[in-house]
Amino acid sequence: MSVLVYINSNSDKIAKNAFEAVTYASKIGDVTVVTNGKADDTMLAELGKYGANKVLVDRSFEGIDEQQITRMVATAAESTGAKTIVFSNDLIGKAVAPRLSVKLNAGLVAGATDVPKEDGTVAVNVFSGKAHGFVKVNTEKQIIALLPNSIQPEASGSEANVEEFSGNAGETKVKVKDIKKPEGDIPLPEAELVVSGGRGLKGPENWNLITDLAEALGAGTACSRPVADSDWRPHHEHVGQTGVAISPNLYIAAGISGAIQHLAGVNRSKVIVVINTDEEAPFFKAADYGVVGDAFEVLPKLTEAVKKFKA
Ligand code: FAD
Repeated sequence: MSVLVYINSNSDKIAKNAFEAVTYASKIGDVTVVTNGKADDTMLAELGKYGANKVLVDRSFEGIDEQQITRMVATAAESTGAKTIVFSNDLIGKAVAPRLSVKLNAGLVAGATDVPKEDGTVAVNVFSGKAHGFVKVNTEKQIIALLPNSIQPEASGSEANVEEFSGNAGETKVKVKDIKKPEGDIPLPEAELVVSGGRGLKGPENWNLITDLAEALGAGTACSRPVADSDWRPHHEHVGQTGVAISPNLYIAAGISGAIQHLAGVNRSKVIVVINTDEEAPFFKAADYGVVGDAFEVLPKLTEAVKKFKA
């Protein structure tokens, strides 16, 4: 069975969720990847290691205009005859998959967490990760948007063939004036260790408590939504239902109450450590380790301990 995967390759490296989507698709059928932009052939050929047989690259346009990408993926679906089209359920996937679903009259499974069962049923995340649903589409074609961090990328195969392709993407009405890259070396969805702060930190002037610990650990930094809404931290650090979903090996949350909308983005972390003055804070119920204490005292001690341990 032919499976088509869209990946975004518009930056200088392919993101982890693209490898996840290709690995996922390889468990369903023969994988063709479609992408656009300037990504070099060597980088795209690497996708073969994750299970792609072929990579179609449309070099006629760059960027992430969802209408152009929708048209390109629709053309690729037609030319490959793929009945299953896989996206990562990231910001682009969330914008393109529903459009493509209408265009191809294909059922959409959004937020998939596992490969389809024999009868075609797919497990999905519902109620912000509080429960699993099971979806089976009854259309000839189906689109699956895979929840980032649901599966591990698996590299074992050889390089894929990379072919130039015309996706009839058409024109865009969107003019990109500037692209601002997030600060920091570790993109949050890919960080193995994350230190995160909430309103309990009282203000942006105290954020060195978070960044010092993150630096000592070699971790990424995150925050709760009100922190980003108040401009204490940039929006790309906001995790949760309306922010980034992460599943690091370690998530340290200081001064965050643990509202359900926050947990929705972090409850797939392997180990959760919560630091909060209020022993009744809901986050403690989701924590593997809890410290009832003042973040202003606990965080510097933790940073010192990590530095000593690493010395
Ligand atoms: P607070 O709820 O104010 O909690 C602060 C915590 O800090 C308290 O538990 C307090 O005991 C503790 N504290 C205070 N002082 C200290 C100290 N010195 N040391 C240690 N602890 C201390 N939120 C998200 O985070 N992400 C989302 O994606 C998101 N999406 C949302 C979507 C919708 C539709 C809605 C309605 C809400 C959403 N929210 C989201 C908001 C969410 O409901 C909470 O309001 C928010 O997560 C609370 O942020 P907080 O824990 O930083 O602040």
